Amino acid sequence: MPRDPRFDILFEPVQIGPVTAPNRFYQVPHCTGMGYRRPRSLAGLRGMKAEGGWGTVNTEYCSIHPSSDDEPYPSASLWDGADVEALAMTVDAIHEHGALAGVELWHGGAASANHYSREAPIGPVSRPAGVWDPVQTRAMDKQDIRELKRWHLEAALRAKEAGFDIVYVYACHWYLIRQFLLPSNRRNDEYGGSLENRARLLRELIEDTKEAVGDTCAIAVRFSASDGGPDDDQDTAEPREILELLADLPDLWDITVHDYTYEMGTSRFVPEAGLEATMSWVKSVTDKPVVSVGRFTSPETMLRLVRQGVVDLIGAARPSIADPFLPLKIAEGRDDEIRECIGCNICYTGDQTGTPIRCTQNPTMGEEWRKGWHPELMPSKGSDSSILIVGGGPAGLEAAVALGKRGYRVTLAEARKELGGRVSRESRLPGLAQWARVRDWRLNQIGKLKNVEFYLDSVVDEEQILEFKADHVVLATGARWRRDGLGRSHEDPVPGWDGSTVLTPDDIMDGAVPNGPVVVYDDDHYYMGGVVAEKLRREGFKVTLVTPANEVSTWTTHTEEQFRIQERILRLGISLVTGTSLAHIADGSVTLESIHTGEAGEIEAGSVVMTTSRTPQDDLYYSLVDRISITRVGDCLAPGTIATSVYSGHRYARELDSVVAAPVAFLRE
Ligand code: ADP
Ligand code: SF4
Repeated sequence: MPRDPRFDILFEPVQIGPVTAPNRFYQVPHCTGMGYRRPRSLAGLRGMKAEGGWGTVNTEYCSIHPSSDDEPYPSASLWDGADVEALAMTVDAIHEHGALAGVELWHGGAASANHYSREAPIGPVSRPAGVWDPVQTRAMDKQDIRELKRWHLEAALRAKEAGFDIVYVYACHWYLIRQFLLPSNRRNDEYGGSLENRARLLRELIEDTKEAVGDTCAIAVRFSASDGGPDDDQDTAEPREILELLADLPDLWDITVHDYTYEMGTSRFVPEAGLEATMSWVKSVTDKPVVSVGRFTSPETMLRLVRQGVVDLIGAARPSIADPFLPLKIAEGRDDEIRECIGCNICYTGDQTGTPIRCTQNPTMGEEWRKGWHPELMPSKGSDSSILIVGGGPAGLEAAVALGKRGYRVTLAEARKELGGRVSRESRLPGLAQWARVRDWRLNQIGKLKNVEFYLDSVVDEEQILEFKADHVVLATGARWRRDGLGRSHEDPVPGWDGSTVLTPDDIMDGAVPNGPVVVYDDDHYYMGGVVAEKLRREGFKVTLVTPANEVSTWTTHTEEQFRIQERILRLGISLVTGTSLAHIADGSVTLESIHTGEAGEIEAGSVVMTTSRTPQDDLYYSLVDRISITRVGDCLAPGTIATSVYSGHRYARELDSVVAAPVAFLRE
């Protein structure tokens, strides 16, 4: 289908200083968990974005000097010639498809504890550095400021040597240049105190970078349009004054907000175009192009923002991760095929855990180089085999789509009256509605594949599987939450678990109504305990959330949600009991025990929602494994995230009838 001409405006070139972006699709800098450690993987990933139509593709934050290392979080670096060589691979991969390559030069200042380089952290003043690290910065003297400027300039020259078209001066988030910009910079020289003084370093860095590389490279500034913390408390006054001071100095303004949990908030907390209200003033104070983000997946939203003059370029990190081919799909009038980001932030967990990026919606993300996976292309089938998939959750649906695209004959049977498995059920919990996109994209794809058929309301048993006589059976039957409390803190069932007061998240999602007051016992530590507590509290129950961890939903620090979840739990009036284990369940009460002191106490509980671990639904596998070709995928194989399930289904489909390297199934750097 040809594209709607209304969208032509998104494909107009945009002049950025001395370079021209071929269109308005702009992949802003985003971390990948690859950085300087995995340069080939990085080149593969960034090149794929360019192939998919992103007119500009940037690196992640790129350290300019060893006095700014973010280990264990993997940044890129331009410390020396070896880094130039490594990053040139990324530039070449981007240029191969006609896109511009940008690099976000970065100095962390007080945000970097320098665990790797062991250099003393630096900053405008002496203050605690890193993230809870027991180390402080050294206050920079004038010589340090001169050195910093030299490092930045030399890194810019290296960036130019590597072939980059856009060089950033990174002046936002909690990093060095912003530490100078903030009122907490109480230096009494010309780099601190008054607003003009605090902005001096930024001005000089822009001027120096322009002078050094501005003949061929555009100079972009990444800047916070707001100092506010929570979204309802945005303060744009000072940022506006600073931006007015520097208005037309850079070639491009890349606008965001200070608070990461808002800028890249999950869909549970922040809607699409969430920054619009905070940054829409920016274009009125500069004539230079402006780019900003907002988890844009809707072409209509993109169109509106450009037409209304809010932005010139559509900035995206997550939408380009979930669908590297988003621009091309809009260009070709295939918007319905966009694999829309669900806003879960699993992609950010790569950076936070020092591992390569992954994505819930896009199982090929991060696998471009090491496995040769392409998000849009599947190898043709390796045989005429027929495949029966049992279970239509994310694993089964992804396997069906990927096998279907390879050309296999696929039949999928689902026990329930709807497809989607856990994503359909969980998307009805508070704040998780967009998770249904995992199902919807796959249903749309299945609708286009004549060789894939599915049956609902079809519980498949051993006999039916044998009768069906498929060449291969894929068991994607998922997992169920345990009732007995086994999990990280309990090797044995919690005494009293088999009483009538115990429910599981599955029961709640199936509509079970607890007896108040409710205790949600969360030994899972991702989102489920907090979400179930939120749902029940909103329904009017008195809720106590008990967890052996010292904070609620502790793993969500990796998805940048923990703070917001804990805030919501407390604001909703849910009692939070941390560092505490569930020792015993009785009729109408539970005994809790401190994991620190062993001190025990009893609280009233009409119901307990046990959120500890899950049991794979794998009986069919064990009864059939010696008789037919049967493979488990997703939660049925090993309960995990939705991303794990999608990846598992996809991997099965890719590897069927192909030779997979062993024992390591991927290339290593
Ligand atoms: P995953 O994340 O691995 O895809 P889910 O729990 O989301 O797992 O999905 C598993 C799906 O399998 C559910 O929709 C469930 O109804 C379905 N299912 C489980 N057992 C059977 C069975 N015997 N026959 C058909 N469908 C089944
Ligand atoms: Fe979007 Fe989740 Fe993929 Fe990140 S992991 S790009 S948030 S779908």
